[in-house]
Amino acid sequence: MASLSLYIHIPFCRAKCLYCNFNSYPGLEALIPDYVSALIEETGLWAVEVRSYQVQTIYLGGGTPSLLNPGEVAQILGQARATFSVATEPEVTLEANPGTVDQAWLEAARKAGVSRLSLGVQSFQHGFLRLLGRIHTTAQARQAFRWARQASFDNINLDLIYGLPHQTLLQWRSDLEAALALSPEHISLYCLTLEPGTPLADALPPQARPDPDLAAEMYALSEDMLGTEGFDHYEISNWAREGRRCRHNLTYWHNLPYLGLGAGAHSYLHGYRFANAASPQDYIRRLRASFRKGIGPRRFPQVAWARRVGRQREMAETAILGLRLGEGLNLAALAQRFGRRPERIFARQRQELQELELAEEVGGYLRLTPRGRLLGNQAFLRFLP
Ligand code: SF4
Repeated sequence: MASLSLYIHIPFCRAKCLYCNFNSYPGLEALIPDYVSALIEETGLWAVEVRSYQVQTIYLGGGTPSLLNPGEVAQILGQARATFSVATEPEVTLEANPGTVDQAWLEAARKAGVSRLSLGVQSFQHGFLRLLGRIHTTAQARQAFRWARQASFDNINLDLIYGLPHQTLLQWRSDLEAALALSPEHISLYCLTLEPGTPLADALPPQARPDPDLAAEMYALSEDMLGTEGFDHYEISNWAREGRRCRHNLTYWHNLPYLGLGAGAHSYLHGYRFANAASPQDYIRRLRASFRKGIGPRRFPQVAWARRVGRQREMAETAILGLRLGEGLNLAALAQRFGRRPERIFARQRQELQELELAEEVGGYLRLTPRGRLLGNQAFLRFLP
């Protein structure tokens, strides 16, 4: 059976963080029971379409999945197991906001089948958490981590953000030290993007905007410190202990099929990319409408748009996503997948990237150089058809 990854979007948040432009909504928690019912409906709609796949990973992302009660998490996972063929030991990740969990919640989530926890810590400094509009404190982040360990989570990721307004290199070093002191299995580091229209972007005067050169120094420092501690830098923004790479996200970077459930969730299946209606209310309404007498069931009423991915586009996307990996793009595997000769596939782009010292070829892999990792987009756009 071919492998499939399942992404389940939980779009609810206690408050909207000031930098966030994800598909997430504060103040709609009363909708959660209806939303969970809609997710159950949607899962059932896919039963036939994905019967030739085996689900290897499940990822509950958001938004804030930890706003669900553990019974709802169990219900969603139970429905996935009842509907799809799920591997015996799937990786099941749940994103948790440290301000929303306690030990009992984490124990119940673990019992429901969650095997990997991703904690949105973002910073270990009070001032930056307030600047970002996060609802949790640094003490809660540390406490959530300890509770997760006590709840027998042995696979925990910490998310951190660097390149914050007025952040110094020393402050970033102290965040990395604080993260390492907890001994997580996985660390994801993201550079702050000031998305137009977010309160943080609107409020910051030009002189307070993060300096890209300093952000590059922070990234280099992260590579040094995490490398010294034995972390494997396996993707541009991700570091893992041995055997702890995120299998779910590797599906994306290998450009393999995944099915997204929930409001605004994206999928890549049978050569199509498609996305569900983004608003939770619209998503619930569409799934209800499909079963209401007289309207007549459309097959996938929750899907808002779909686009066929042509062969050229698929090849370009596979190259771009593969280049994000630490080991780089496996040229022989790429050539085999698309029926090309390894020496011919993207020959012009490979040469150009090497001349620009953005990438290098090592042992049959095309991989970004340290400079290329900082200027990833310069490398990626060369592959677009
Ligand atoms: S918790 Fe995450 S998804 Fe929710 S508002 Fe904050 S950044 Fe956005």
